[in-house]
Amino acid sequence: MSHDLSSIFGRYLSHEEVNHYLTDLVQKYSNKIQIFSSAHSFEGREIHTIRISPNILQKKANGRFYVLIDAGIHAREWITISVALYVVHQLVERDAINSRLLRNFDWIILPLLNPDGYEYSREHNKMWRKTRRPLGRDRCVGVDCNRNFNVSWGIGTPQYCSLVYRGERPFSECETRNVRDIFRMLRPNCRFYLSLHSHAKAILYPRAYSRTLPQNWKHQHEVAQAGADAIVGACGVKYRCGSASSFLNNAVGGSSIDYAHDIEKIPFALVMEIASKGFHPPAEDIARICQESWIGIQAMVMQLAVSPRISFTRSKTAI
Ligand SMILES: [Zn+2]
Repeated sequence: MSHDLSSIFGRYLSHEEVNHYLTDLVQKYSNKIQIFSSAHSFEGREIHTIRISPNILQKKANGRFYVLIDAGIHAREWITISVALYVVHQLVERDAINSRLLRNFDWIILPLLNPDGYEYSREHNKMWRKTRRPLGRDRCVGVDCNRNFNVSWGIGTPQYCSLVYRGERPFSECETRNVRDIFRMLRPNCRFYLSLHSHAKAILYPRAYSRTLPQNWKHQHEVAQAGADAIVGACGVKYRCGSASSFLNNAVGGSSIDYAHDIEKIPFALVMEIASKGFHPPAEDIARICQESWIGIQAMVMQLAVSPRISFTRSKTAI
């Protein structure tokens, strides 16, 4: 029996409900999905990362490659969490029609990276973006996780109260240390890292901190474009593709995709800025946005799997 989908994709789930959905799937489908790792947020919430694989009983991917997807790095980007759960739903509860996506990859999914910020956004301030760690001074709270990774971190803002505060040091937040630890656990077999944001209708690749493109940028562009083409073809919604720095006005340090690509040597490290009406699209739009985003995500992963020009060995293209 699969879940009543309207109860999962007809509204925004709380952190507790997200975890309940995941642990429920793990119980029902223990041959397909397991808890890959669990960490705790600053306020003590449990952060689950799950692994989906046809070879779930084998501890390691055994030469298979990993796709890693995270969501909810920015607390107010609620729709990203629904999209990540939709990916889980498709791969676990609709695995027969998605078997080609499971053939080449184990999927590692972290659907709610920053649960403290998310709950604060749900309960108190819808536009909250950061973590919820009190900073001691000025009664300001929280760090922008996507400025807190250890890659060109120094160019981020040291202003405590800023919406994009980088933190006192790289990885000052347990939520970003959790992602760093997941990257380490996946070494050296992670080929694709996709970080879900909203709502700028764009698929972006490194670098955010510099206009200098990665060596394999053309291949990364192809993957991004495959996602954008699929979405415009199926739904008529146009995503822009390009490097993060070509999209942003200022250089951004400490981003997760730059860390993934430059430091962890993950060859494909993309941000998907999901198209939606604002950060909190109406509940009746959630299912449609999930389906639309899933079309793009599938196309990107298929592009990875089929492109003869994309090397899956640890080669020069991985810089
Ligand atoms: Zn964001």
